[in-house]
Amino acid sequence: MTVTVNKETLGFQAEVKQLLHLMIHSLYSNKEIFLRELISNASDACDRLRFEALNNVALYDGDSDLNIRVSFDKAARTLTVRDNGIGLSREEAITHLGTIAKSGTKEFFKALTGDQAKDAHLIGQFGVGFYSSFIVADKVTVVSRRAGLAADQAVCWESAGEGDFSVSMVEKAERGTEVTLHLREGEDGFLDGWRLKSIIRKYSDHITLPIRMAGEKWDEEKKAQAPSDEEETINQASALWARGKNEISEAEYQEFYKHVAHDFEDPLAWTHTKVEGKQEYTQLLYIPARAPFDLWDRNARHGVKLYVKRVFIMDDAEKLMPLYLRFVRGVVDSSDLPLNVSREILQESKDIEAIRSGCTRKVLSLLESLAESEDAAFREKYAKFWGEFGKALKEGVGEDFANKEKIANLLRFASTHTDTAEETVSLKDYIGRMKEGQEKIYYVTAESFKAARNSPHLEIFRKKGIEVLLLSDRVDEWVAGHMSEFDGKPLQSVAKGGLDLGKLEDESEKKEAEKAADEYKELLAKVKKSLGERVKEVRVTHRLTDSPSCLVAEDFDMSGNLARILKAAGQKAPEIKPILEINPQHPAVQHLKYEEARFDDWAALLFEQAELAEGGQLEDPAGFVKRVNALMLALNVKK
Ligand code: ADP
Repeated sequence: MTVTVNKETLGFQAEVKQLLHLMIHSLYSNKEIFLRELISNASDACDRLRFEALNNVALYDGDSDLNIRVSFDKAARTLTVRDNGIGLSREEAITHLGTIAKSGTKEFFKALTGDQAKDAHLIGQFGVGFYSSFIVADKVTVVSRRAGLAADQAVCWESAGEGDFSVSMVEKAERGTEVTLHLREGEDGFLDGWRLKSIIRKYSDHITLPIRMAGEKWDEEKKAQAPSDEEETINQASALWARGKNEISEAEYQEFYKHVAHDFEDPLAWTHTKVEGKQEYTQLLYIPARAPFDLWDRNARHGVKLYVKRVFIMDDAEKLMPLYLRFVRGVVDSSDLPLNVSREILQESKDIEAIRSGCTRKVLSLLESLAESEDAAFREKYAKFWGEFGKALKEGVGEDFANKEKIANLLRFASTHTDTAEETVSLKDYIGRMKEGQEKIYYVTAESFKAARNSPHLEIFRKKGIEVLLLSDRVDEWVAGHMSEFDGKPLQSVAKGGLDLGKLEDESEKKEAEKAADEYKELLAKVKKSLGERVKEVRVTHRLTDSPSCLVAEDFDMSGNLARILKAAGQKAPEIKPILEINPQHPAVQHLKYEEARFDDWAALLFEQAELAEGGQLEDPAGFVKRVNALMLALNVKK
């Protein structure tokens, strides 16, 4: 580093400042992870160089021995992590080390509570990366030269981790990046070869490249350990996924996950297989313990890295996993694909298609083994998985025809037989306790668990003790739409169709209903006339025991709930006229038989309260209020 030119000082993006502050104050109990993060970045940088060099060998500039070096200087109180990877240009240093480009950043900052303990958890989930250096350093200097740029085109980035950083042009003899931490007061414990080695072995053993440190020898004069000229490799430096399963410890699998997923927490579960035969590839796929902030952004980064014969090819290989499994993280290493495979080739590749379906099946089997395990701890893991990723998995019902049944087996729903939204049942559980004579799987859809649970459509089912699934996720309408049956049993919305309870209804009930329909024929016609075009039909209900009225849709019509979801999302929903069902047992309906003067108000109220009860919005709320008041006053006057 001889000349320093073009020095400029720039402010961090506001979010970086916030992140730095939060990190320094919440991760002090786990400081040593900064080394893992820096080594992980160094390893990624080497992977990237190797990939770019596939098409441009000149980038190696004669040095293709990619490696990472860790060293320290006791006197200067500094610790340095070096790599000879892709490096950073000046512009790259400014953007990559001054802003956060991660998707989900906005959501992350929205989720912060200000409560340090809770936020410490969130930050782990968000991933800490390069900025974690500032946990132990009060100044960080990065000197980097992008592969392919001249020696005098290197950049020196420096910051005290507060509001700003500086960049200047410097000279650097070799390509790659050198991150030097100027340790904070009290952090001298890191200036110890033995300790650094043990941290590296603990967190970074799985890194595929050699991590080297100067060896140490006894200095007789100083009566202390001193650096020797010999270097030693600290880690195993072989691709973890290429090793045999029984050679890999649980802790190694977990550390590897943190590296590939840029996650801070241990994964929930993983599957590691070497597939042989027509296609040869190895897959090591992980289910994270927690949903990322950008799970709902269907364009967000996918988490499976593609390698070909141990050589890193690309991050974010979206073709390797179906969209509904976008939360899976890990590595696929193919022995068959060409090294120069591009995203365009991947789009078309039959090999990739086979790998993708193999990986999908593996992940679904892993989930199945958790869900159906004899071991309660595994089943609990599945429940945790479902809470985090269930909504994404549900998309698979409509997306992945080949695995529809496997996915259906993994679905969980709240039901009238459980107490909270968190307690769920599988379709198998449901079928296992169907009433004698019950032929269908009943469900109700609503905007919230509470609305579903209190839906008037459930009244007759409650009375008969028939279980109904309570679907209140937005995606549930879609699931129901794509799943007409499970295990030979049709799915039936309780708010649709004529509600033929078949064998569940006894003869006397049927007769009574027919009688009521006959008896109320005239009244029904009168209500229909009064409501006009607002309803398709008015009929006597089979569903209600307590409420006076409810709305139902024709079997083939869109449900009211779905129409509301579409409208809320700004999409067009067909105008569907509902059927109004009224309950002849209810005093309000009985009263209607004798009502003359206010008949229209009564009829309108029957319709409007049914709309409200299923979470709908009134077309004319003010009119509704007027009618209610008028009727209340009329009652009062009678007294
Ligand atoms: P992440 O690694 O999760 O993307 P970081 O904050 O750790 O986030 O790093 C930000 C970016 O800085 C990286 O994505 C990479 O582009 C760049 N970077 C960090 N370390 C290095 C390095 N050693 N060599 C080259 N680029 C690096």
